[in-house]
Order: sequence, then C-alpha cells, then structure tokens
Amino acid sequence: MARKSAVAARGDGAFGEFEFLRRLTEASGVSGREERIRELVLAETRGMWDETRVDAMGNLICLKRAARRAKRGDGAQKVMLACHMDEIGFYVRYIDDDGLLRVQNAGGFDTRNLFARRVRVQGRRDLIGVMNPVGKPIHIATEEEKKKIPEIREFCIDLFMPKEEVEKLVEVGDPVTLEQSTAAIGEAISGKAMDNRVALWVGVNAVRRAAATSRYDVYFVACVQEEVGLRGATTAAYAVDADVGIAIDTTLCCDTPGITRDDAVTEFGRGVGIKVMDSASISHRGLFEEFVAVAKRRKIPFQREVLPRGGTDAGALQRARGGTRAITLSIPTRYIHTVTETIHRGDARAAVELLAAWLSA
Ligand SMILES: [Zn+2]
Repeated sequence: MARKSAVAARGDGAFGEFEFLRRLTEASGVSGREERIRELVLAETRGMWDETRVDAMGNLICLKRAARRAKRGDGAQKVMLACHMDEIGFYVRYIDDDGLLRVQNAGGFDTRNLFARRVRVQGRRDLIGVMNPVGKPIHIATEEEKKKIPEIREFCIDLFMPKEEVEKLVEVGDPVTLEQSTAAIGEAISGKAMDNRVALWVGVNAVRRAAATSRYDVYFVACVQEEVGLRGATTAAYAVDADVGIAIDTTLCCDTPGITRDDAVTEFGRGVGIKVMDSASISHRGLFEEFVAVAKRRKIPFQREVLPRGGTDAGALQRARGGTRAITLSIPTRYIHTVTETIHRGDARAAVELLAAWLSA
C-alpha cells in the first residue's frame, strides 16, 4: 500500500522506476538519426558524469570515474558499456504521384509485422501517417493475393494530403519510425524499440547504483547505428580504448507457442542473460565466469545464453584495436523487431543488479 501511494505521488503511474524506459521507447531514433534519444539520456543523467562528449558519428560517450582504486595495477581499469540507442526504421525514398511516401528500411524488418501501422515522419514537423502494403483489402483479394508477403518497397505511407502539401512538409531522406505507445502490463513492459532502449535504462541505472562503489572508470556509451552493422560501437570502442567491453542488448526470448524449447534461447522472467556466444562474438571466457560467479554469489537470477544467429556491439568491442575482453549482458525480449517488443521487469532489474555488483566487486 505504502509503495503504491509513493508511486502515485511521483505521477508515473504503472511504470514506476520504468518511467524513463517509457519515454525512451516512445521517442523516435532510427539508425543514423538518434539525436532525440541522446537528448533524453543527457537530460535524465544530468549531473551524473565526470565528462561527456558526442563524437563525429553521434555516439554519446559519458565517463563516470572509479569510486575506488582497482585491486591490481596503478589506475582504475577502463570499462566501456555499449548500449545502442538506434531503432529499426525507415528513410523516405521518394514521394509518389499520389503523394504517398515510399521508404527504404534501415535495419531488418519482417514485413508481415508492417501491415496496418501508424508511423511518425520527421518532416519539417512531426507527422503521423498510416503504413500499408499496396494491394486490396481482404474483401476483394484473390486467394493468391492473400498469401503474398510484400517487400518493403511495396509499402506506402499515407499522410492524407495532396502531393503538393506533402512536398512542402516532407523531403527525401526524412526519417520514419513506427508509432506505438508503451504499456505497463503487470510485470511486463511492452512497446516499440525495447531493442535497445532497455539497455540505456539498464546501463544508466547500473552506473547510478555503483557510483559510490565502482572500481572501474566506466565509459557509458549510447551508441549509434548498431542495427545497420555495429557502426557506432566500432569507432567509440577505438576511441575509448577500454580494458573490458560490455554490450547490453536484447536477445530472443522464444518461449512462446509455435517454437520448440530447442529454439527458445532464453525464458521470460528467468533473469538476465549472460552471453556465451552469438554470430558476432564469443564472450571472453574469464569475463563470462566472473559474471556467473557474481550472479551466483548475489543470488541474482541469470540464464546462460547461446544465440545461433544475430549479434551485438560486443562484436565491435572485442575487435577494437589490438582486441578487448568483451561480453554481452542480455535482456530476454519477446516478439522482437515488432512494435510489441516486451521485457520482464525482473529481468531488467537483474541486469542492473548484476552489472552494478560486477563493477563494484
Ligand atoms: Zn539491439
């Protein structure tokens, strides 16, 4: 009861400590246009860092110095946290004769998830549009037409304005993102871009929690352009030149009907994922064992994760310069790369706890 009224008093309703995650997920930041997300992170963390800078690619690099000296060596070792802030989305490719927008995707979509969507177009001002594939509604479609899975180039965005009006407000190259409000559903939080805004939430909260105890100089990096090939992390990792690189990202959580346990990868609500391998990196074995040991000692729920396909910024971190010890901490996410990406609060909290404990160990 007391807890409930405290939450209500803060005015953030059902989201509680996840209110910042709600704001992050509802904002637009397609790969290459992450500026709104960067501003949200800076506003939320004002006063928290010893140094901040934005590099040429747009990565936000924030340093929090160690609270105490490392046990070995002279200075504190450097740890880089890579939390990509971009989301999969689109750029306007052209405006067709009917005034509809045709788009190019940035990042991998399953086009079956793109039917009947609202989108946000960042034109001269923000515009809401409706996205659908070309073709007929079910009433008049043939059996053959119903089975067809359209390609991205067959989707149109309708702004319900004549072409001349559209041309005043939108130009080729303007970014487009899916529009979806985020919902708190019991222990779950569901919305678009949970991949990878939940990592920003985890990273910020872990650094905050470890502020008085961390034995590392932590470089929290909100990276750009992960979804198009780990591009931001590549340059940030080179610049930071860390001793340890930790990517925080979502991972598949396919414990849902129609998929066998064999392909589940992780289970919802069973704890933070400690990555063994994916197709971009194999975690440093010593680091992996350290994280498992800390999780066991602190009784933090965790899952060992092997992901057959897909990768994270750890792939860039471990190959920076002469090589860096690297690992990924994962947040199991159901329905990934849709607007219903969903995480379990307990898994996100476990990620914060594990990372803060490791930084302080
Ligand atoms: Zn991701």
